[in-house]
Amino acid sequence: MFDLSGKVAVVTGGNGGIGLGMARGLAQAGATVVLAGRDAAKSAAAVRALASEGCRADAIGADVTDESAVARLFQQAVSRHGRLDILVNNAGATVRKAAHDMSLDEWRCVMDTNLTSAFLCCRAAHPLMRQAGGGKIINVGSMMSIFGAPYAPAYGASKGGVVQFTRSIATAWAADHIQANAVLPGWIDTQLTRKAREQVPGLNERVLARTPAGRWGQPADLAGIAVFLASSASDFVTGTAIPVDGGYSIA
Ligand code: NDP
Repeated sequence: MFDLSGKVAVVTGGNGGIGLGMARGLAQAGATVVLAGRDAAKSAAAVRALASEGCRADAIGADVTDESAVARLFQQAVSRHGRLDILVNNAGATVRKAAHDMSLDEWRCVMDTNLTSAFLCCRAAHPLMRQAGGGKIINVGSMMSIFGAPYAPAYGASKGGVVQFTRSIATAWAADHIQANAVLPGWIDTQLTRKAREQVPGLNERVLARTPAGRWGQPADLAGIAVFLASSASDFVTGTAIPVDGGYSIA
């Protein structure tokens, strides 16, 4: 039920952090994973690490905010690996400022990276998934898809948008046997949050106190949900937004 042998997955931002945690899970379940990111050295290192673990991995350089780069990414993925079954829209970024201090360029950068990229990648993936007879889309939201924070106007708007966008494509593409779901990670220890811990005083203590599991998540904590949502085990699950947060959102 969870076997992904013969499946091909594109994971945006799959060269590090949560994306690599999900990519590793998919690859360990048998999929060939294509890591899409901008930093070629980081992508090459991630491919080497996965290959050394016996996984099938490849990297394609792409800025997912760029429409033509996204088109090239999917063309190359299919020409190298023959098909597309799974798409994980994980690439993301933030600018930690209140709305009254945020420039339009900063707003656009966050929206383009977190939300418009998911639209571009899903639109490019749709015909390829139809060709494969169906597909699985996993969009990465956030606790900011649910909660508000003073320093996250664009990030929260983009991540709320990710959930609503997911519901829209889930309804539009159900007849094509494509399931689309969002995953909402809690506080996970990655480069992104390491920066947040430096910038936001007391964040580390607040996260530990508020998370029932009593710890930060690790990228590996996202592997299981990725495999579930990418496999036939979730064929009747679509349009959901599933927290993977050690209980943060219910405490
Ligand atoms: P990282 O900063 O470790 O990873 C972000 C990834 O996105 C990088 O691999 C980066 O690759 C890629 N990326 C960023 N911009 C672009 C772009 N324009 N084109 C292509 N790739 C891009 O962060 P996380 O692993 O923490 O975050 C991954 C996702 O999880 C994000 O969507 C984030 O919002 C979300 N998230 C994270 C949480 C956490 O606690 N860490 C909590 C909730 C959600 P490269 O530099 O090579 O371009």
